[in-house]
Amino acid sequence: MTPPITIAIDGPSGSGKSSVSKEVARRLGVAYLDTGAMYRAATWWCLREGVDLTDTQAVTAVVDTMPLTMSVNPNDPTVRVDDINISEAIRDTGISTKVSAVATNIEVREILRTLQRNRITAERTGGFSQGKGIVAEGRDITTVVAPDADVRILLTASEEARLRRRAQDVHGTADAQAVEATKDEVLRRDADDSTVTQFQIAADGVITLDSSDLDFEQTITAVLNIIEHTTTPAQ
Ligand code: C5P
Repeated sequence: MTPPITIAIDGPSGSGKSSVSKEVARRLGVAYLDTGAMYRAATWWCLREGVDLTDTQAVTAVVDTMPLTMSVNPNDPTVRVDDINISEAIRDTGISTKVSAVATNIEVREILRTLQRNRITAERTGGFSQGKGIVAEGRDITTVVAPDADVRILLTASEEARLRRRAQDVHGTADAQAVEATKDEVLRRDADDSTVTQFQIAADGVITLDSSDLDFEQTITAVLNIIEHTTTPAQ
């Protein structure tokens, strides 16, 4: 039996890490963990519970009891809180503009990091992947959540490429107006998130993959190549 694999992928907004990580997980037949969705779910839950996001203690208490259920099936990565399917709701601009307020709460990060580590361990021994492993993506997976992952990749892209991709995703077009409207979601959010995690420069041992000039399929091929070269022992 092949040993389990943990693949950690970090990157800024619009780098394409979610769609790339999901597809890589599908092709390898392993689980997929979207840690950004956990911070988004926490934000959704705090808003629903009527918590003031600047009240860090209240936010921590509410997140600590969040009834979160996440599927790690890359074909159906459903997110539920209190048994409500919030997979789409957490993609709203309303959540995107507020999520950094929750993600910069250090105690919230510790709560979610523990859940993330537990999930990674579960997939190495059983779980959805039946012990084949997991692709986990976010901002601090290569550095804090799973620094001992078998493969660690920082997926980057130029600011221009990231704005264009996010505008296309959210507004269905990448014209000048759509790009302008996307700046808060990409640049301001990354600036806020950078105050608690470093995901713009690769840490030691983390491989940087710049996808600015690669299309989706080329990016998948590049990631699969990195995985193969990292996990195949030198002859
Ligand atoms: O990846 P995504 O854009 O869905 O992430 C949403 C937010 O979750 C980020 O802007 C960041 O604030 C937070 N996040 C984080 N650490 C992670 C993943 C996401 O702080 N590992």
